[in-house]
Amino acid sequence: MSPETQQLLSALGDRLGAGGVLAGSDVDQRYRDDPDGKLGALPEVVLRPRDTEGIAAALAACNDLGQPIVVQGGRTGMAGGGRVQPGEVVLSLERMTGFTAPDRQAASIVAEAGATLEAVQEAADGAGLMFGVDVGARGSATVGGNIATNAGGIRVLRYGMYRAQVLGLEAVLADGSVLTSLKGLPKDNSGYDLSQLFIGTEGTLGVVTRAALRLHPKPVCEVNAFCALSSLDAAIALLGQLRQKLGPLLSAYEVNFAPLYDAMVASMDMPAPLPAGSSVYVLAEIQGSEPERDGERFAEVLMQAVEDGVIDDVVVSQSPREFRALWDVREDANRVLFPIKGLISVDISIPLARMGAFLREASAAIHANDPDADIYVFGHLGDGNLHYQVRTVDPAVAYDIVYRGVAAAGGGVSAEHGIGLDKKKWLHLVRSDVEIAAMQRLKAAFDPKNILNPGRVFDFGPSAFLGEI
Ligand SMILES: Cc1cc2nc3c(=O)[nH]c(=O)nc-3n(C[C@H](O)[C@H](O)[C@H](O)COP(=O)(O)OP(=O)(O)OC[C@H]3O[C@@H](n4cnc5c(N)ncnc54)[C@H](O)[C@@H]3O)c2cc1C
Repeated sequence: MSPETQQLLSALGDRLGAGGVLAGSDVDQRYRDDPDGKLGALPEVVLRPRDTEGIAAALAACNDLGQPIVVQGGRTGMAGGGRVQPGEVVLSLERMTGFTAPDRQAASIVAEAGATLEAVQEAADGAGLMFGVDVGARGSATVGGNIATNAGGIRVLRYGMYRAQVLGLEAVLADGSVLTSLKGLPKDNSGYDLSQLFIGTEGTLGVVTRAALRLHPKPVCEVNAFCALSSLDAAIALLGQLRQKLGPLLSAYEVNFAPLYDAMVASMDMPAPLPAGSSVYVLAEIQGSEPERDGERFAEVLMQAVEDGVIDDVVVSQSPREFRALWDVREDANRVLFPIKGLISVDISIPLARMGAFLREASAAIHANDPDADIYVFGHLGDGNLHYQVRTVDPAVAYDIVYRGVAAAGGGVSAEHGIGLDKKKWLHLVRSDVEIAAMQRLKAAFDPKNILNPGRVFDFGPSAFLGEI
């Protein structure tokens, strides 16, 4: 163990209490976990504070030593942001899992950063309210990680990204100073809204410790429909009609393209809602407050779309069990995709008007390079967000084709999972030099020694950069 690490341990051991500092053989392998299977380094030290003051003490000590830190929540991030690099100390939020009872009147809750998304959802539910974000990793992903990656999920269409759920937050800066903005006021224009700086910045500007989160009325009824359509254009047209005629009732609009749906149906251990054979499948959902009236309105719009030839076939859920079963089909995609060896997987956003051209051009270019490549696409069509997977002998070329195509279409190289370590070489395709320089200026102001999640999002040499300011 280096003298610096020993110094860190002796400085923090007493302050963080029993179990607050793990070192050497006490460090569990789980801190290397990564859902992408790219194991990180085993850290020499893991810091596990119980409260904001502990986080502040840990950061101040590391900052004094210039000790790099990687912040970890539930380690479900898929861009390598929490993956440990050699020499980094892990700062884990796993012992900060508390939350207040939901405030029914204000429709809000204050949660510690290590609380899981599922815990927040359940607390809201218990108070007759609902939390607006849901993602597949809900049982492990934490409030802090959700904020750091500005998580979205399946109901962005209705409730917005995580940013829209944050009424205020508390964050600790690299030097240990604490910024607290937990009043939970829906309106507060008293100076800069500093909370925004920590949302979607992947732990590079500060460590989120607590957040005041917005809750929503719990829907009285939920209905979904699974539709087969002949083309992406038809799916986009249907989205327009549902939005126009149902307004905020529409809560999710998910898409699944044919080769993937065909593969799912071929090995499904539940009845397929519709047979394979169409080009595009859509799962549309409404959340309403008047079960009969809202369900009827939904059915009317769908039937009209069938009559107009926009939808080829449709099933509508008639019970909570059928509703869940249709969502299970949507979530079944990963069962087929995860076992495919060497699959490249990107999460991209593209303006709807250019999505068709992007898909055609990317497919043509990938197949020109590797005629046997398989392409599987699904995603959150309502948000212009696609999960695009390719099995190919030439992953580097496929990445290049997809990301350059996204950039040319005016899209984003990361719709959900962030840039982390894994996507930073493509950031310049979608962000100008001026934008990246502005990000680096923020980094220089908040973390001049570059101790927090160094090398994530962009490379940053503090001494070189500080000279340019
Ligand atoms: C199966 C699956 C499905 C998913 N589906 C979706 C989806 O539909 N939509 C979507 O948007 N996302 C989705 N995700 C991504 C998911 O939103 C993120 O993985 C999650 O929000 C990260 O939370 P975490 O606690 O696991 O963070 P980690 O993985 O631990 O960390 C992620 C990043 O946040 C930083 N970080 C963590 N905690 C803090 C903190 N307290 N303060 C500052 N920085 C911090 C880390 O350093 C790292 O850079 C999915 C992920 C999985 C595995």
